[in-house]
Amino acid sequence: MIRIFKKVNPNWEKTLNIMSDKVMSERQILGIEFPQANLDLCLFHVLRTFRRELTLEKMGITSEERRLCLEILQKMTYAKTEEDYANLYQSLKSTKINSVICYFEDNWHKIHNEWVEGLKSTNLTFLNRTNNRLESLNQKIKQVCSRNTNLGQFFEDFLVFLQSTRVMQDHKAINVFHKRPVILYEPGSVEESYKKLLIPYAFSFVLKELELASEVRSLKKLPQNQYEVTTTYAKLKVTVLSCDCGFRSAMLLPCRHIFAVRKVEEVDLFNRTLCSPRWSLDY
Ligand SMILES: [Zn+2]
Repeated sequence: MIRIFKKVNPNWEKTLNIMSDKVMSERQILGIEFPQANLDLCLFHVLRTFRRELTLEKMGITSEERRLCLEILQKMTYAKTEEDYANLYQSLKSTKINSVICYFEDNWHKIHNEWVEGLKSTNLTFLNRTNNRLESLNQKIKQVCSRNTNLGQFFEDFLVFLQSTRVMQDHKAINVFHKRPVILYEPGSVEESYKKLLIPYAFSFVLKELELASEVRSLKKLPQNQYEVTTTYAKLKVTVLSCDCGFRSAMLLPCRHIFAVRKVEEVDLFNRTLCSPRWSLDY
């Protein structure tokens, strides 16, 4: 399957962000076939693997020790910075529970930028932190296609699945145009302009970022119309059209930092090029 994909689009992997569960054989193959792609681990599977592997029997620990280690590991998963991670790693070491520390160092420490939320690649993920959507699709396929049928029957069932999925998607899309919003924005306002441009899902994100723009402080002017914004987690480089924050990279929508810079520069807060065409009603 991977080989077919690569033949169809040889440049595909350069923009690829692979999210997987922690099946080692799968991950090794993905790593060999797509050496340039980012491999990220699914948040849900990481937390589940910790719970499954850290048992009293496997690690020879007490239930109190298990609770303590799981708490540290869970905090690590949500760590926002390398420093947070390093502090938690120290806390784990200071527990002196060697079986867990060894297990952690052998399996997780070296690849921590693939599973620690704040350190995962800031790529175009559309804020998906798990592969739950894919799993949900898999569940729906399984409801229609039964196991161990012949290939002919499988394709027959699979086409039924595809058709009903498309009807469902069309239904959702039609609702976007037919339902009238309750909240109306002032004509000509920034909110109204974005509302007219975007599907409701994307608009809800932009609205929130617009609101949060007033909370962005510590804008430092740099040469070449750039600004530096210091957040709790990072120092961002921002212009009226770009920002390297996680939200902007993941969603391709304008973030609070871009809005804040546009306010300072007294530039119109509405600009359609800030939104990826995929979010537009036209699209
Ligand atoms: Zn930003």
